[in-house]
Amino acid sequence: MKKIAIASGKGGTGKTTVAVMLSRLLSKKFKVRLLDCDVENPDCHIFFSDAPTEKEEVCVFYPEVDTEKCNCCGRCQQVCEFNCLFVMKDRLMFFGELCHSCRGCKLVCPQGAISEGSRPVGKLFNSKVEKNLHLDYALMNVGEARATPLIEKLKKNLKSGADYAIFDSPPGASCPMAETVAGCNYAVLVAEPTPFGIYDLKIAAKVVKKLGVPCGIVINRSGGEDKIIDNFARQKKINILFRIPYSRKFSCYYSKGVIKENFFPGLADKIIKEMLRI
Ligand code: SF4
Ligand code: SF4
Repeated sequence: MKKIAIASGKGGTGKTTVAVMLSRLLSKKFKVRLLDCDVENPDCHIFFSDAPTEKEEVCVFYPEVDTEKCNCCGRCQQVCEFNCLFVMKDRLMFFGELCHSCRGCKLVCPQGAISEGSRPVGKLFNSKVEKNLHLDYALMNVGEARATPLIEKLKKNLKSGADYAIFDSPPGASCPMAETVAGCNYAVLVAEPTPFGIYDLKIAAKVVKKLGVPCGIVINRSGGEDKIIDNFARQKKINILFRIPYSRKFSCYYSKGVIKENFFPGLADKIIKEMLRI
């Protein structure tokens, strides 16, 4: 199974457009799994008439402290990188909202006072949305701070049997984006030819390079001449895969929740050709 991440440093550049269009184009010939990894605000499902159904609740480790067993030795406080535990002379305070579920405190507690608890962080949804095309997405619970456990789970649940998996990455270039792109065969960086666009593209390209994932650029809202992106791509030896032109007709469809795969013919071919070349 080839895994392709669709990422960008910035929100609103057209990642979902490219991810949905590419998935639909590929599903004409291959079995495709589209994973919407933007778990804070998933939106790929809007563009399919059969909305996926809820399948599973995702929980993370949450330490449960037995105050009877705890002798306030302070080992858990020392090991916790996130300052979730504050041990006083005769009691322990736990700030659960800071917990990253690393289990360090449980491992080091000499009294066995910390046991395995769990806490729900979101839900997974999936279903077949079109012939040859499955959509999976996760929705993070309101108030949660970390998106990565849900992205990890989405990727872990990826079933074999598909020819291609397309990951629609969260915006930005922080942990959720890195978690999505890590381990992919190729990353498509979607960028718009503006000063904001190039600023964020540079950061995203750095992260993708650090992760060792080859990449190419799709320019969205291209005006034909996109010097600001072209210069950067030439400098960094990154190929421009495709230019999606400004299109009022496309925007009108998009605003009604319609992305037609044949709007920009050649998009999938160019990306796949480039991916196979590397
Ligand atoms: S699980 Fe990790 S982050 Fe959470 S309290 Fe324990 S040591 Fe700290
Ligand atoms: S390591 Fe265990 S015994 Fe020591 S303070 Fe933490 S919970 Fe209490």
